[in-house]
Amino acid sequence: MVRAEGVHKSFGAAHILKGIDLEVAPREVFCLIGPSGSGKSTFLRCINHLEQINAGRLYVDGELVGYRQKGDKLYELKDSEVARKRRDIGMVFQRFNLFPHMTAIENVMEAPVQVRGEAKAVARARAERLLDRVGLADKAASYPSQLSGGQQQRVAIARALAMEPKLMLFDEPTSALDPELVGDVLDVMRGLAEEGMTMIVVTHEMGFAREVGDALVFMDDGVVVESGHPRDVLTNPRHERTKSFLSKVL
Ligand code: ATP
Ligand code: MG
Repeated sequence: MVRAEGVHKSFGAAHILKGIDLEVAPREVFCLIGPSGSGKSTFLRCINHLEQINAGRLYVDGELVGYRQKGDKLYELKDSEVARKRRDIGMVFQRFNLFPHMTAIENVMEAPVQVRGEAKAVARARAERLLDRVGLADKAASYPSQLSGGQQQRVAIARALAMEPKLMLFDEPTSALDPELVGDVLDVMRGLAEEGMTMIVVTHEMGFAREVGDALVFMDDGVVVESGHPRDVLTNPRHERTKSFLSKVL
């Protein structure tokens, strides 16, 4: 579903991603861990067309990200092409990023109505189903300010799902939450995984990675240091850098 081949990304002189190679299979829960500043968010942002890579190849569902290939030449995509491709990818951030002036259900309806031109009744019916699925059927009319962080994050997940993405990206979705609210959000993610959603999850929740993850990559300083099944990497890290990182977070 996602394939990275020698992906490089720099910001000015700062070389952040230094040749990332990895592959995420369909229906896989792919966990990405690593120290602060190692490039995890940058990598997700590249997948979601929020950043353009400088070298290498990145594919989502077999299609090149950010560029169009003709012969052996690459051309940058037009904004309209980027917008179309981004619709297939849902992203959930550390901060919930809901529209504050809209209710929960309006937040979930927004993209299908505005971006896809869907009829409001259709969008509303789906939004009701999605809010129910994340356990918030009774909060449809609440504004973000009236919801807890965990509830806001579950609305954010429902909002991302409303566009029926083929891939969901989670960037530390629980790290801004009070500890007692983390479980509800992880439960929703676990449910999504069971339904077969392909997910890339940047997380410090090693319990989630171990129980739900199909693959785990440890990234440091813009490279993949170690990858494998979460249970193997977490219990039997082979590299010193992985060991040292895990000794701090486990
Ligand atoms: P964290 O665990 O703290 O979220 P991360 O692994 O997600 O870290 P990134 O956010 O990808 O790390 O950042 C990697 C590096 O890239 C950092 O040094 C950061 O300062 C730099 N960086 C990220 N975005 C930009 C940008 N738009 N312009 C310049 N530098 C950037
Ligand atoms: Mg980050």
